[in-house]
Amino acid sequence: MYRETIHHATGVAEGTANERHATRLLTTAARRGHAVEFTPAGGALITWTRHLFGRSEGSVVRAERSISLEPLMPVGALSTTTRMDLALIAGDRHAHYAEKGGRRVVAGLTWEIPAFTTAKLRARGMVVEEEDRLRLSLTARLGLLAQQHRTRTTAPEGWYRPSAADPYGSAGLNRPGGRAGMLRDGGSAATCSCGALSAWGGDRDEARRLTLAHRRAVAAAFITEHLAPVPTPAAAPCNCGGCAACMTG
Ligand SMILES: [Zn+2]
Repeated sequence: MYRETIHHATGVAEGTANERHATRLLTTAARRGHAVEFTPAGGALITWTRHLFGRSEGSVVRAERSISLEPLMPVGALSTTTRMDLALIAGDRHAHYAEKGGRRVVAGLTWEIPAFTTAKLRARGMVVEEEDRLRLSLTARLGLLAQQHRTRTTAPEGWYRPSAADPYGSAGLNRPGGRAGMLRDGGSAATCSCGALSAWGGDRDEARRLTLAHRRAVAAAFITEHLAPVPTPAAAPCNCGGCAACMTG
């Protein structure tokens, strides 16, 4: 379950969203080309811009909109062992609950997760039972992905004194304020823990835009490849005040 916060035309609306509704929001957002970012806690932030007609003729006003999905049970830090257990469950269509020595365990075709760990995964809302099969919860999947893509930017060096061996050491000799002979480097590196992003921004804002673009690309690819569109039932208003209302207005 998620706490859903919608920033729309007339203000802020809050409600709760179940997994099905959250999935529907994510697939709709991806289809419409809205920006989506996942959080390490297993949530998501959907943002987009609406272009509305302004008061004066021909003017267009940009209006920022967003929906945030915040898990009621955050994923928390994932140890290597937990990641491996989750990978086992995610990769086996036969994952199910079994009983061993009177205690519940998660089992697949050729493997088994000990009762104590099983209890922890259940308590953390990482697994969902559906028609006698076990799968990862949406929260677990989003949290896993976000934690695999931890991005960072480096602090620019700022003013620095070139070393004596620097052939350009005489640059900036006339700078005031005690900075004579110093150079400024505003550049910032943008990297991701997945190893796929290694870029350089002219300043830190640019580096942050690079990391944001990377996280959004990862989220969009995940939604398109792994989340099936959930049809909106015609006669079932959602608990946030109407699905159609979520992403319009
Ligand atoms: Zn990454």
